[in-house]
Amino acid sequence: MYTALVKSLKDKNVTLVAVSKTRPDDQVMAIYDQGQRIFGENRVSELERKSDYFPEDVEWHMIGHLQSKKVKTVLPIVDMIHSVDSEKLYDVIVREAEKIKKPISVLLQYKIGEEEAKYGLDKEALEAIILKHQSSSPLVQVKGLMGMASFVDDQDQVRSEFAELKSIFDYCKSTYFSTDDNFCELSMGMSGDYELAIEEGATMVRIGSLLFK
Ligand SMILES: *Cc1c(COP(=O)(O)O)cnc(C)c1O
Repeated sequence: MYTALVKSLKDKNVTLVAVSKTRPDDQVMAIYDQGQRIFGENRVSELERKSDYFPEDVEWHMIGHLQSKKVKTVLPIVDMIHSVDSEKLYDVIVREAEKIKKPISVLLQYKIGEEEAKYGLDKEALEAIILKHQSSSPLVQVKGLMGMASFVDDQDQVRSEFAELKSIFDYCKSTYFSTDDNFCELSMGMSGDYELAIEEGATMVRIGSLLFK
């Protein structure tokens, strides 16, 4: 599974984040041994433990909701945070990055879909962070956007949600980042919907269950 998936993603210039949360270490190591280096986690305690256990050259990505008070713990471990879903969290990341002088890549999580409970920014909150970012710490790089489609069977709905996120990405790019090549990532798509996400413009997919079955 891994080899075929990686090849098809490489052909499309899409980065694989192997979502290793809850998976036993030997299964994760098997994927590492096949060459995977980017792994995604959504719980801070698990991330801490795994980053101690796995080789140094793993690039850890935080993909789940992150509490501001946990930023201090997470920041030294991770290369990218996909889930910046509030201005407060962004502010704390800036503060902690400055404190330890660590460059960190972040994605702003946009709320697509209809599910009320989901985390994510609306357009107004997204633009407020981007405006603030323009005069903020150079250590924190806003690399793009992240989003999750609704968990529904209706493929047309999922596709239109990904298309909505892509259009917000394009709007942000042309309005705020037209001269900033770093703003180039669109993290969308999981095991069940990554093909649709890629068709709609994903540059990163976060895949767990499909890899580890
Ligand atoms: C668990 C998780 C994934 C991976 O989901 P799969 O369906 O197992 O591929 C992707 N993104 C986030 C934010 C997750 O929490």
